[in-house]
Amino acid sequence: MISSILPTYNRAPLTFVKGEGSWLIEQDGRRFLDFGAGIAVNALGHAHPALVQALTDQAGALWHVSNLYNITQQQALADRLVANTFADTVFFTNSGTESCELAVKMARKYWYEQGQSDRIKIVTFEGAFHGRSSAAIAAAGSEKMLKGFGPALEGFVHVPWGDHDALRAAIGPDTAAVMIEPVQGEGGIRPLPDQCLQGLRALCDDYGVLLIADEVQCGMGRTGRLFAHEWSGITPDIMMVAKGIGGGFPLGAVLATENAASGMTAGTHGSTYGGNPLACAVGTAVMDIVSDPAFLETVRARAGRLQQGLAGLVDSFPDVFETVRGSGLMIGLKCKLPNTDVLQAAYDQQLITVPGGDNVLRLLPPLNITDAEVDDAIARLRAAAEMLQK
Ligand SMILES: *Cc1c(COP(=O)(O)O)cnc(C)c1O
Repeated sequence: MISSILPTYNRAPLTFVKGEGSWLIEQDGRRFLDFGAGIAVNALGHAHPALVQALTDQAGALWHVSNLYNITQQQALADRLVANTFADTVFFTNSGTESCELAVKMARKYWYEQGQSDRIKIVTFEGAFHGRSSAAIAAAGSEKMLKGFGPALEGFVHVPWGDHDALRAAIGPDTAAVMIEPVQGEGGIRPLPDQCLQGLRALCDDYGVLLIADEVQCGMGRTGRLFAHEWSGITPDIMMVAKGIGGGFPLGAVLATENAASGMTAGTHGSTYGGNPLACAVGTAVMDIVSDPAFLETVRARAGRLQQGLAGLVDSFPDVFETVRGSGLMIGLKCKLPNTDVLQAAYDQQLITVPGGDNVLRLLPPLNITDAEVDDAIARLRAAAEMLQK
């Protein structure tokens, strides 16, 4: 008999009933160190006082109106995002998938309004993940996600990750945009080298193609910069954001330059909940903390400590781990053993991590993790590796 919850997930037998900072408390009372953060969502850990305050204050005042009216909380967050990024304008969504939908629509509408209505192709990369809607699965293009769901939305061209020649060959007069995660998340934490992103920007400029950055996972301070593309010095035309921006409250956004957004006039897109007062009140509280340069400096310091500790583990346990890669606090531990075995051994040490593609174990701790918690996680992974090594 089918479960009352549609069985689309293989769930670990863990039930968390409370969160405190970087810790999750299981219903049996065990405390788990959370290096998954709900897949890079709980950017400031659990029950951060400033976020609880922002949410409860807003909950007592106003939950929802509609985008038929002005929403001051939405305006405040949009102003902050514009002030801190390349973008001139923001549309709020409730998830990364919805941000993908709008990014695709925006890029195509741009060319339509330029009088090039057949310029609809969007180049994406193998191993990418952009969400689960029909457009997002077509964008990623993996057989696993597309199979059985009817004809894929047309117009996506997939090229191998980091293959500049294949990318150049894929771009032509019918290309509307290139969509890329500066650090692939689900694909197994694969950072694109800075010079590749710079080359990609130059290629887009040569052909007038729009560059869409999917920073749903790698954005909002995760790599030690507010957004990952900042490391390379380039800017995209359109950027998809979600996950960390709401700190655990459902919130996403599409950021764009005035030029890239120029086709999106009144009536061309909408969302009932997008930019809802509750979500934007929390999002503003997250932004206030994460956009502070001193906070980002601390993220980089913690990341250095964690990456150093992990490199030591790889040296000590060559039969368990292969290598460490990633950027900031978005780290992939490529495993020699099946990553699911390592995941389970980490659970046994009450450490939460997340599996990823390419046999990687993802470490995505809250950005405000302490040095002591970083050391604790290394100790737990060491214990897990010792159990697996013998
Ligand atoms: C998670 C993710 C998405 C999809 O976000 P949802 O909120 O699950 O719809 C899109 N792109 C990237 C890079 C992601 O990591």
